[in-house]
Order: sequence, then C-alpha cells, then structure tokens
Amino acid sequence: MIYSFTQISQYLRCPRGYRHRYLDGWREKDTRAAMVFGRCFEKALAAFFLREDSAAALFKEWEVYRDAQLEYRNGDTWDRLAQQGVQLLEQFARDNRIRVRQPRNDLQIKLVHSLANNNEFLAYIDGVGFLDGTRCLLEWKTTTSRYPEEPNGMLALDPQLICYSWITGIPDVALVVFVRKRVPEIQYLRTTISDEQRREFGQLVEETAGRIGAGQFLPHSGIRFPQNGCVSCPFLGLCLDQPQFIDPKLIRQPGASDLDWLDLLDD
Ligand code: SF4
Repeated sequence: MIYSFTQISQYLRCPRGYRHRYLDGWREKDTRAAMVFGRCFEKALAAFFLREDSAAALFKEWEVYRDAQLEYRNGDTWDRLAQQGVQLLEQFARDNRIRVRQPRNDLQIKLVHSLANNNEFLAYIDGVGFLDGTRCLLEWKTTTSRYPEEPNGMLALDPQLICYSWITGIPDVALVVFVRKRVPEIQYLRTTISDEQRREFGQLVEETAGRIGAGQFLPHSGIRFPQNGCVSCPFLGLCLDQPQFIDPKLIRQPGASDLDWLDLLDD
C-alpha cells in the first residue's frame, strides 16, 4: 500500500469515510472553483520562480476552466478569481521574501518513506527554500480567510506541516497563505517542528496504516451538536443511504485507490 497525508487524515477523521473513498472508490466531484483555482495558482507560482511571466501562466491554466461548470461560492466569479490571483502574484513579487534557489529541483518535490510491511508513504512537498533568509520547507495555501495566528504557537500543531517536516527531516516550516479577499493579503508564517513531533507523527502513520491493514473501518460519526462532522462530510449520502445527497457530490471510480497519490494535489 502507498499512503499519503490525505489518506491518513481521512482515516483519522472517520474510518468509514476512508472506506467509502479508498476502498469503494467514491470521491468528491472536482467542481469546487476555489480548489481548481488553487491548483492553477500554484502553477503560476512555479512560473514566478522560473522567472517566467507568472500572470500569463495563471491565465493559461485558469482559462481552461472559463466555461466549466464549477461551483463558485461567496460571490466569486471566474473573472474575480483571475483578478485576485494577479494581485496576489504582484504582491508576492513586491514582498520578495521567499527564495527558491533551484526551482526545477526544489518545487513539487516527490518524497517516499518506507513503512513496515512493505508499505510506503508518498508526499509531494510544495517547495524547499528560504523565508527572510531562513531555510525552510515551504507550503502554499490559497484561501478566502486569514490563517489564525492566535494563540501564539498554534501553527506548530498543523498536522500537514508536521507530516512534511517528518518526511523531509527539515524542522523549520513556512506556510505562505494567499488570502483572496477584497484587498488581497499574503501571510508568511513560520514555525519549528520538534524532533518529538516528528517521531510521534511517524508512530501515528505506522499505527494508522496497521489499522487500515487490519480492516478497521468503524464510523466516527461525530453526531454531537455543534461539532457535527457528518454534516460537512461528502459521504453523508452513503452513510444515510440517501441518493439525493450522493449524486450531486460524488462520483464512483472503482479501482481509484491506484490513483491515491493524485489526492496530494488537492492539499
Ligand atoms: S457521514 Fe459521518 S459516519 Fe459517514 S463517513 Fe462521513 S463522518 Fe463518517
């Protein structure tokens, strides 16, 4: 088995959801405009570090979806996202706080870690570079709301950053948050992941892979007001056996577990 951060976190959120997604092949339809735009934006960032025209790269990628049936939220439109993307790229260039010395090698880095029982863990790291002169692992996020900075130190609990620190062995990690709002903003957040956090994450991965291998898929439904995880879970229709909730959200791809690594591009 090849595991990814998305798989492990899906299992930890709800093992039944893991079974729906990875064993039965159900997955969310790729229609969320914000997510599709985020992927296009990351390609524009790669163009920026390669000293190419990043705005042109963004339009080239995003143009493909101009007439696609995407789900826009919060008053977003194709044009508005394109405009926000260009503003963010311009701001990023003005800030000039991130350096990637060898963009062809240091962006979208594929890493594989061996696990017990011939399993593997696969990750794609957005980049390794420098934030304000400090070498660190880089993770990009496009979002509509600021990443919370209080209470101080919370970033060090981010499971994805811990995961990437574990697989690279790099303690310093930076989250660069591209906030799409009326006046676009970029947050440059840096923290340090400890040896103990990396060791514990490795244990968590091994333990989770063991439970998946043992076929433990009991639901963690979380039906408890107000933290009701099922309400926002894409697999709700499957668990309730109500097709009206399944069809708008999910498609089924038998054998899709062979393509699990594609999930990494969603993160
Ligand atoms: S609807 Fe609830 S029980 Fe079913 S997969 Fe989602 S979180 Fe788990």
